[in-house]
Amino acid sequence: MKILVAEDDRVSRLLMQRTLTKFGYEVVLAEDGRQAVEILSQHDAPRLALIDWMMPELDGPSLCREMRAQHRDTPYVYIILLTSKQSSEDVVAGLEAGADDYLTKPCQMAELRARLHTGHRILSLEDRLVKAREEMRYRATHDALTGIWNRASILSLVRSELQRGARELRPVSLLLCDVDHFKSVNDNYGHIIGDQILEEVAKRFKDEVRGYDAVGRYGGEEFLIVLSDCDTASLEVRAEALRRSIADSPLLIDDLVISITISIGGTTCGKAAVDLPLELILAEADTALYQAKARGRNRSVFASNGTSQATGPISISA
Ligand code: GH3
Ligand code: MG
Ligand code: MG
Ligand code: MG
Repeated sequence: MKILVAEDDRVSRLLMQRTLTKFGYEVVLAEDGRQAVEILSQHDAPRLALIDWMMPELDGPSLCREMRAQHRDTPYVYIILLTSKQSSEDVVAGLEAGADDYLTKPCQMAELRARLHTGHRILSLEDRLVKAREEMRYRATHDALTGIWNRASILSLVRSELQRGARELRPVSLLLCDVDHFKSVNDNYGHIIGDQILEEVAKRFKDEVRGYDAVGRYGGEEFLIVLSDCDTASLEVRAEALRRSIADSPLLIDDLVISITISIGGTTCGKAAVDLPLELILAEADTALYQAKARGRNRSVFASNGTSQATGPISISA
C-alpha cells in the first residue's frame, strides 16, 4: 500500500521512509505541504498520509483543511499529523483541522505501526461504505431482471435528453417497444423462460443502440428507448434495426429456440417538447404502439407530427 510522508526535515524524512519501507509500504515523499497536496490530488494517490505539523508553504493543519474542503468526491485520505507539540489545545486544533490522528515526535515504532493499522481499518470501512452506497445507487436506478435503466431512471433520462436537445437544437426520439403476444409466450414456456426472454431482448436492444442512447424497462414487457440527436428519418431506420434485432434471429434459451417479435411506437421531439408534460409525449408513442399492434404487430408506427405539435393526428407509416 502507498503512503505519503510529508516532512521538510531531510533526515527525519529519510528515516521515516526507511521505517515504512521496512513495514512494507510503498513510500511517496513530499518536502513541503504544497507538494503533499499536489501528490494527494493526483489520480491513484496514496490514501494514508503522515504529515509533519511544521512545514514551509503549507503546514500540516492547513493541509488537512485544504484536503477536507477540496476532495469530498475522491477517495478518503487518512491523515496522521506528526507533531512535537503536545498540549491538548494543539492536538484539538490538529484534529479539528481534519486530521484523523496524531503522533508525537520522535515516533515509537510500535505506536506508529498500531496507528497505521487503525488507518487501514478506517479506510477499509470507508471502502465498504462506498461500495454499499454504489450498490444501492445501482439497485435504485436499474431494473433487477435485465440490468437496464428502470422506469424512474429512463423517464428522468427522457427529461434530461429533451432539455439537452432543446438547448442544442437537436431532435430527440423515443421508442416504446412491446413484446408481441408475450402472455402466450409465458403460457407456452413458463414465467422463468419468459424472464430469460426479457433479459435477452434487453441485451439485444443495448447491443443495437449507440453508446449515448438509453434503454430502459418501462413496464413488464415494454421497453423505452431514448435516441438522442435522432430525427424522424433516422428514427425509422433505427426502429427497423431494433425490430429486426429481435425478429430476424430466434432466441436461444436453454435448449429452446424461440421466435418472438416486437411492436414499436415512436415519436420525435423537437425543441417545443421540453415544455410539454412528459405524459403527453409518452402517450403519443403509446398511441403509435397501439396502432402497430392493431395493424398486425411486428412493425413500427410513428407519430407523424412529433411532439412539437403534440395535438396533431397520428398517421400510420408502417
Ligand atoms: P400484445 O401483443 O398485445 O402486447 O400481447 P401481450 O400478451 O404481450 O400483452 P399483455 O399486456 O396482455 O401481456 C403482457 C404479459 O407480459 C403479461 C405478463 O404476465 C407478462 N409479463 C409482464 N412482466 C413480466 C416479467 O417480468 N416476466 C415475465 N415472464 N412475464 C412478464
Ligand atoms: Mg517540520
Ligand atoms: Mg405490454
Ligand atoms: Mg406485449
